[in-house]
Amino acid sequence: MAYDVDNIFAKILRGEAPAFKVYEDEFSLAFMDVMPQVPGHTLVIPKDPTEDVFSADPVILGHTINPVQSVAAAVKKAFDARGIMLAQLNGAAAGQTVFHLHFHILPRSEGLEMLLHARAMADFAELEAHAQRVKSALGE
Ligand code: 5GP
Repeated sequence: MAYDVDNIFAKILRGEAPAFKVYEDEFSLAFMDVMPQVPGHTLVIPKDPTEDVFSADPVILGHTINPVQSVAAAVKKAFDARGIMLAQLNGAAAGQTVFHLHFHILPRSEGLEMLLHARAMADFAELEAHAQRVKSALGE
């Protein structure tokens, strides 16, 4: 499948759609998932127009995994999580719904249930506050 330049993450990258951003560098962007499965659910994407892990340039993958590590550490701290789950879906059969490569960062703790994938839109004020918590943790 050819990369769709109008997918929602491409629009976020072009500034045509809003996002609660927590981190950005030359190669990558991280922002809050608008339909979080747990509070603090954050996404990291490459700026490169890449659909999935199979079509990704390994160099781009390397540039993307660096912020995955640092943003995951910040999310863990900001949400006082016992653990962090990383998820990365490839293809509709695997549950991928946005066809621009992305890594999910999900804070986990015993007893904290995960909501269903990409279902309920979060309150924007809450997402903004969550983004601020992650940004603060990144700055520490
Ligand atoms: P996938 O299903 O492709 O692994 O994950 C796509 C993720 O993107 C889902 O968790 C979904 O909640 C999130 N998502 C979908 N549309 C938007 C959007 O407009 N903004 C943000 N921030 N996240 C989105």
